Amino acid sequence: MSVELENHLRPWTAVLTRGFDPRLSVGSARPAVFRSSTYVFATPEEAERAFDIVGGRIPAGPHERAELIYSRISHPNAEILEDQMVPLEAEATEAAVFNSGMAAIMTAFFAFARPGTSMIYTMPLYGGTTKLIHAFLQPFGVTTVAVMAGDGDGLDRAIAAARAPSIVFIETPANPHLRMTDIPRAVEAARRHPARPLVMVDNTFLGPVFQHPLKLGADLVLYSATKYLSGFSDMIAGAALSRDPALIQQMRSYRVLFGNILQPDECWMLDGRLPTVSLRMNRQSKNAQRLAERLNGHPKILRVIYPTLFQDPEQIRIFLRQCDFPGAIFSLELAGGKPAAFDFLRRLKIARLAVSLGGVETLACHPKTTTHSSDTAEEMEQFAITDGLVRISVGVEDWEDLLEDFLQALG
Ligand SMILES: *Cc1c(COP(=O)(O)O)cnc(C)c1O
Repeated sequence: MSVELENHLRPWTAVLTRGFDPRLSVGSARPAVFRSSTYVFATPEEAERAFDIVGGRIPAGPHERAELIYSRISHPNAEILEDQMVPLEAEATEAAVFNSGMAAIMTAFFAFARPGTSMIYTMPLYGGTTKLIHAFLQPFGVTTVAVMAGDGDGLDRAIAAARAPSIVFIETPANPHLRMTDIPRAVEAARRHPARPLVMVDNTFLGPVFQHPLKLGADLVLYSATKYLSGFSDMIAGAALSRDPALIQQMRSYRVLFGNILQPDECWMLDGRLPTVSLRMNRQSKNAQRLAERLNGHPKILRVIYPTLFQDPEQIRIFLRQCDFPGAIFSLELAGGKPAAFDFLRRLKIARLAVSLGGVETLACHPKTTTHSSDTAEEMEQFAITDGLVRISVGVEDWEDLLEDFLQALG
């Protein structure tokens, strides 16, 4: 297809037309899986040019990719997937795929943080990201400053006061209390600093359908594609997207060294899931909103945590400004603490007891004893992770069946 036609197609069409040429897969309507580890060159000159481009000695032409060399560098299924992912993220021009969300985050940190620089991040972050910061970034010589999610003044001050900041890392909404951080405000603070730190957003909870960080000025968007992008709780994957091709190119060059590109079979699975991510997320968000709003006020529930039920005017403002829909995660705080939470989880018949989120099936977990069990008592208090808290990731089932299941489990 001509670049011109491709450029004006809307995302949900482009995801099906970009990146894949059936003629390169013997006419197959779906891409073939290319499991080869190495690729054959037609001439020694072609091999020389491919190595010169990958080695950075000569620039690639616009939209040119080096010929395939070796699958740790790139392979056809990664290229197809990366091209198909781009239209889904508003304003992205390039994507890079990784073999987990943690691999994408880790590669972003090591590509853009340097010893002697600092990094400002919102807390709480996904547990693995917090551990990565403490176990590797700090010993690597990066000074880190944590600010509570949603504390706009605190984040402004931390960015302004930071010495040689290289990264501002935001996870919004934060897990499990769904506190939101104002992305455009963080971008403005980062732009005011002479060091111009990169603003990165872990967009796993609401993206790419409901929240568009690049449009709000962020530099890099990161995903655990294990969650909504793949959507069936059957694979582990990650992705990074940016408006600036140089940032993605730099991450790809680190990916070659770290050996953490997504493998061909997983790329093939994930690109088949992309055309339905909006359908799934819209249905999941509608289900979650109906359930959260119906359960709110139940005598055995102290509090339902969900964006449409926010009380804090600043949180409401951020939600309305930066999210198209509230998403499919909510938390219930049960009266009766841990015994009540455990009884509830034991009695659920449709929702399954598991961590993770974003799949088509509804999952429920007890954050205090599972996903957040390594947090200190002080962190649990700050992040409102109480004994009675249960987190729900809503799937695509009929919401009335889910409501009946929750009501019977409440007893
Ligand atoms: C799951 C998750 C990650 C880690 O992703 P993996 O694919 O499990 O490596 C990072 N951030 C958030 C917000 C997540 O939910």
